[in-house]
Amino acid sequence: MDSAELDRLIAKLPRKRIGFYPTPFHRLDNLSATYGVDFFLKREDMAGPGAASGSKTRLAEFILGQALADGVTHVITQGVYLTNSGMQFAVACRVAGLTPILFLTRDESRHGELTEYRGNLLLNKIMDVEVHTTPTQGGAYWDTPGEQQRVLDAMNARKQELEALGHKVIVVPTGGAHPHGFVAHALTFKEMIEQAEESGVRLDYVYHTAGTGTALPGLVAAKLMTGSSVRFRSIAICAYRKGDWINEDVIVDRVKHILHTLGVPLPADDVIRAEVDVDQRFIGEDYAVPSPEGVAAIKELAVSDGVFMGPVYTGKGFAGLLEHVRTGKVEPGSKVAFLHTGDLGNLFEISQVVGPVASAGQ
Ligand SMILES: *Cc1c(COP(=O)(O)O)cnc(C)c1O
Repeated sequence: MDSAELDRLIAKLPRKRIGFYPTPFHRLDNLSATYGVDFFLKREDMAGPGAASGSKTRLAEFILGQALADGVTHVITQGVYLTNSGMQFAVACRVAGLTPILFLTRDESRHGELTEYRGNLLLNKIMDVEVHTTPTQGGAYWDTPGEQQRVLDAMNARKQELEALGHKVIVVPTGGAHPHGFVAHALTFKEMIEQAEESGVRLDYVYHTAGTGTALPGLVAAKLMTGSSVRFRSIAICAYRKGDWINEDVIVDRVKHILHTLGVPLPADDVIRAEVDVDQRFIGEDYAVPSPEGVAAIKELAVSDGVFMGPVYTGKGFAGLLEHVRTGKVEPGSKVAFLHTGDLGNLFEISQVVGPVASAGQ
């Protein structure tokens, strides 16, 4: 189908307008000259309206669109205290006139006690968001079933309290991974392909940073629906393991969910799976721990073209892309778009999260 038909199918779904779309798409002239590859950025980080925005804003448009249609009043979501997703959902809720509530965890063994509001947490504070913080000890909370259950129980208890007062509440899983949102990034793909075509460019690759798996399913669904020849490459910031909370099977299921929602015939699982190519070599020591490659990539892009990636997600993702270019996994002369999913707020986090961005390369 063509992109107008894709648009028409998606336009049938409830949606609350929150961001500024289409987001910009532009070439990185200086980096392209350095590497002999045409680099482009799709700027989901500029989706707005909170300025330090990102890929969760599009998800929120569809999730909150349905929530408003259902008469929801409060939106509870969860994440690590520095969550980009939680902050963008809070912004989206403020726009939509819904009350945001965040349940956040902080690994004190790694990031210390909370003594100061910085980054996304500061933005949540400015928006007067109801924030519940649970300290954890060691590792990401989603890797520890006990910690995960503690957060789920706390969210459910708050939900019940609010419901007893007559409010209607939805719970959005970590990273905005609510089924109503998965379709959102089909539009990102559509916009990007159209924007590239307008500049006479046929993209060979789309790179992005993969975490909770909310952007990739929409991108893949739109590619399959439009018959594009673009290839996806995902750079992971957390492990994609079989049987775990996020992995390639989960992505395939979400693509099927999107196609089913849009009433499009499903291809075989293998056809979907062939679109999923996750490189896990750039996670570094752990989630939200700066990696030397990520820090170097943030610096390199800022110096060459004045664009800021963040330390938790996009710096690591861009590091992966640069390595693929240097080693020829992206062939010279290729046209590559990187999905800038945001992460700006985390540049203003504590040094254990940001890393030596201010000194690297000096
Ligand atoms: C959430 C997030 C990602 C990863 O998101 P997916 O759910 O895997 O698409 C990437 N980059 C940034 C900045 C994010 O906030």
